[in-house]
Amino acid sequence: MFNVYLPLFLSFFSHLADGRLNTGHAGVLLAERRGSYPLIDLRILKSNAQQGEVETGTRRKVKRLLSFQRYCHASRLLRGLVSHSPGSLHLLDDDYLGQAAHMLSKVGTWNFDIFLFDRLTNGNSLVTLMCHLFNVYDLIHHFQLDMVKLNRFLGMVQEDYHSQNPYHNAVHAADVTQAMYCYLKEPKLAEHLSPLDIFLGLMAAAAHDVDHPGVNQPFLIKTRHHLASLYQNTSVLESHHWRSTVGMLRESGLLSHLPADMSQDIEQRLGSLILATDINRQNEFLMTFREHLDNQDLDLQLSSHRHFILQIALKCADVCNPCRVWELSRQWSERVCEEFYRQGDLERRFDLEISPLCNQQADSIPAIQIGFISYIVEPLFEEWHRFTEPSLLSQTMLDHLHKNKANWGSLRCAHTPSDTQSCSQAEEPEGGVGEGADIS
Ligand SMILES: [Zn+2]
Repeated sequence: MFNVYLPLFLSFFSHLADGRLNTGHAGVLLAERRGSYPLIDLRILKSNAQQGEVETGTRRKVKRLLSFQRYCHASRLLRGLVSHSPGSLHLLDDDYLGQAAHMLSKVGTWNFDIFLFDRLTNGNSLVTLMCHLFNVYDLIHHFQLDMVKLNRFLGMVQEDYHSQNPYHNAVHAADVTQAMYCYLKEPKLAEHLSPLDIFLGLMAAAAHDVDHPGVNQPFLIKTRHHLASLYQNTSVLESHHWRSTVGMLRESGLLSHLPADMSQDIEQRLGSLILATDINRQNEFLMTFREHLDNQDLDLQLSSHRHFILQIALKCADVCNPCRVWELSRQWSERVCEEFYRQGDLERRFDLEISPLCNQQADSIPAIQIGFISYIVEPLFEEWHRFTEPSLLSQTMLDHLHKNKANWGSLRCAHTPSDTQSCSQAEEPEGGVGEGADIS
């Protein structure tokens, strides 16, 4: 049964620069934009070409939305003055403040509830978390960072995530950053890391999906989005996340006091980390990692080896949802599938071929999750476990992973009772947020 999903996964993430391109819709999507808003582009296409007078109201709404977005993007300096820092918590009850601060005192625990933290910080989880972690590691002092510039940079990053995306939004970035922090604390790694490694690891985690449009690379390619041609159909989204981050770094002037070669090196290494999250390169990284572990030749005194492990750590953090406690894991699964289904609905509406895993009628959440766990998450975390051994955190993550996979098996069974083979191995859903091990 799982084998059915392997080709689906491969084709979901692989390039689609072939004859299936729907050129009838493509031209309109060439409109040059700074950001990555394919949904808006498609709505313009629909209203211009097919809908006529009936949807004049919709068109007006789109125009208003567009001008608001243009305003937002054109007024970076102004936005930089808006407080995104924990200072903005003054709008909240002292109670909320206290609870958020209490949560930060346990930010290194694996059952950290990022959804709750985001609510307690009034949607500022990413900025609040990053400021806290920069303080924990004394990075502001070490790199002589200007707090105003740091605040402006983090505010830009958080704001450039699309809050309307069910999955690829600022809460996902905060979640990945929190996971990254847990991995940076692994004893095998922590003692070797330099302040620059830690700075890069946290920055890459926070910005790794910035301005994600909520659709995947094959979608951008087949609709001839300008980002696809800009990056020649290769690591399109990851390149955009990286270049957007570099743009915001320069605009905020966060690194402008550093020697040119150092800030250039930081930009390049951030790119290398963010580009490693391209799921198309999963096997390449997994094979190299496995080889290093087999040969026992990783030398963390070497900067290049530490960088490789940071790439792997970021990849793990990016796909660690199935390793969280069931209650958190389930929410992420529902969110990512909702995003897939939205892309599928969009493709259906505009007569594009529906991408693998994006058809709500055919692709159930349990089936998508079991495929994702089996082919992406499990192989990676088994090697991470080997690398970090002995690690209580890695063992906890694998335990959750196996439980969650079994839970999805039970749920899939409930959806398709005729699937007797998978039902025979199914277990009852179990676990909750409070049940997770408290690793600090
Ligand atoms: Zn991500």
